[in-house]
Amino acid sequence: MNVPFFRPDLTEAEIEEVAQTLRSGWLTTGPKVRRFEEGFAAAVGADHAVGLNSCTAALHLAIASLGLGPGQAVLVPTMTMAATAEVVRYLGAVPVLVDCEPDTLNLDLDDAERKLEDLAAGRLPESLGRNLEPVGILPVHVGGLMMDLDRLQAFAQRHDLWVVEDAAHAFPAAWRRNAESPWRRCGENTSAVSCFSFYANKTITTGEGGMATTGDEELAKRMRLLSLHGLSADAWGRFGAKASWDYRIIAPGYKYNLTDIAAAIGIHQLARAEEMRRARQARVEEYMEALASVEEIELPPDDDNRIHSWHLFLIKLRLERLSIDRKAFSEELRQRGIGHSVHWRPLHRHPYYAKTFSWREDHLPVASSVWPRILTLPLFPTMSRDELTTVVEGLRDICAKHCKKG
Ligand SMILES: *Cc1c(COP(=O)(O)O)cnc(C)c1O
Repeated sequence: MNVPFFRPDLTEAEIEEVAQTLRSGWLTTGPKVRRFEEGFAAAVGADHAVGLNSCTAALHLAIASLGLGPGQAVLVPTMTMAATAEVVRYLGAVPVLVDCEPDTLNLDLDDAERKLEDLAAGRLPESLGRNLEPVGILPVHVGGLMMDLDRLQAFAQRHDLWVVEDAAHAFPAAWRRNAESPWRRCGENTSAVSCFSFYANKTITTGEGGMATTGDEELAKRMRLLSLHGLSADAWGRFGAKASWDYRIIAPGYKYNLTDIAAAIGIHQLARAEEMRRARQARVEEYMEALASVEEIELPPDDDNRIHSWHLFLIKLRLERLSIDRKAFSEELRQRGIGHSVHWRPLHRHPYYAKTFSWREDHLPVASSVWPRILTLPLFPTMSRDELTTVVEGLRDICAKHCKKG
């Protein structure tokens, strides 16, 4: 039996809504996008939500609207995918890479502190540039397990930095300080902007799509303006009943608007977001129980003070107990038809960041040592018992075959 890495969970409701959208004759930004935005804002408890065609677009518009530019630096985790750092480069600013926590893989705020000191003292690679002014931090909630928001906000305030969350994995997700504290949902006006992804394999999908949420009305207006060529009237105004040919260009904007076809899918995915999260969590509980006795595998952390979105089920191989490396382990999984991935090769180990900014392994020791061990297993709401058993049996088999004897 082959097990895919991911399979989107789409129902007749999504299909019907798309068909109805196509029949309506209104394909691009319109009433469905507005409905999706309002529903999403309510779901996370944000004052404003701007629908966009990707999370990358949301990140770009967030930091552009905050005024990021050349000569400035942003703290970015090295443990993330391309989008988080490239948007900083779009604006001519410099990502200063920060190491991760060994267990959660989330950005390590102690290392962020060190990186700021090193930057000020000229101890980071010269190729980053001289006299960079740190202005913001762009953390990722890896896999959907949220960072400590109190610590994050205290850190940002202490250093006078804005916070833009790359929340691509963190819907629906929540955080609380302790059992007595109230829950705070990811995206709930906590940071300057929170950016979500509806890419095909994310927790809810629109095929391609994203959302920026904020409590700041001016930022929301600015992002909306920039999302459609910097036109004075928003997409609704341009395409809707109030449409006019006599718009004004206020800024050199971008083409980042979400379509009604995509939003049609999103509206129904949103309605089932918590149901799908629970389905993933149930699969995780089965994985945890079935794999607890496999000593070659370290299971992912959880926390009573988090609602984990469980976007990813990210294990770590105990390589000291195995006679094979991650590459050979991956090949064994492939031969058994078990989909898997790695989140991620850290940014400092990619040619662009290594060559342009001279990042070395010893600048980011934790990510450097954990990355050869990480592996992401299939996890999705419609994963069947047989599929889960296939993955578990496959892992047990590989570990038994390649465990170090003695
Ligand atoms: C998927 C992802 C993104 C980008 O999302 P898109 O919607 O594909 O642009 C950004 N950051 C992280 C951490 C992601 O996993």
